[in-house]
Amino acid sequence: MLSAQSFKLNELNSVATELVKILEGENLKTATILALEGDLGAGKTTLVQAIGGLLKVEEVITSPTFTIMKQYKTAHSVFESLVHIDAYRIDSINELGPLGFSELLSQGNALVCIEWPKRIEAALPKGVILVDLAVLDDETRTVQVSRL
Ligand code: ADP
Ligand code: MG
Repeated sequence: MLSAQSFKLNELNSVATELVKILEGENLKTATILALEGDLGAGKTTLVQAIGGLLKVEEVITSPTFTIMKQYKTAHSVFESLVHIDAYRIDSINELGPLGFSELLSQGNALVCIEWPKRIEAALPKGVILVDLAVLDDETRTVQVSRL
């Protein structure tokens, strides 16, 4: 697993590359989940954008704050779709039903990145990859990888 480290924006791509490698090693029979912890401005959305770049998502990835969930086609051989969820506005896991969340979890070719994952923790499989981001200073973030 990726060791705890600090990084600047110009190093984000190598952090994202390491993460994608880890994620490719997960069980690919069901969707692969990346839980993204960290305060506002920690870099969760920016990291998803970097991952999208690596997976060759053509569409511009924007924060799904209002739509809650967005799905992007990739040109990656393992993860054919990238799903970006912002759970901040979800008050109950009952709200996940209409979003098609359980169907999503059965899609082995989907990489699902979830901001504010603790809000829907009860609906997540145990042991998904958890990335913890924190602000060190204006330009520097820390990243720590574990399992939820
Ligand atoms: P979150 O989704 O966690 O609320 P965002 O990704 O929307 O955070 O915002 C993070 C902000 O911090 C962006 O404006 C980004 O450019 C900036 N930033 C500065 N340094 C870094 C870094 N090392 N890694 C990621 N983002 C950084
Ligand atoms: Mg965000």
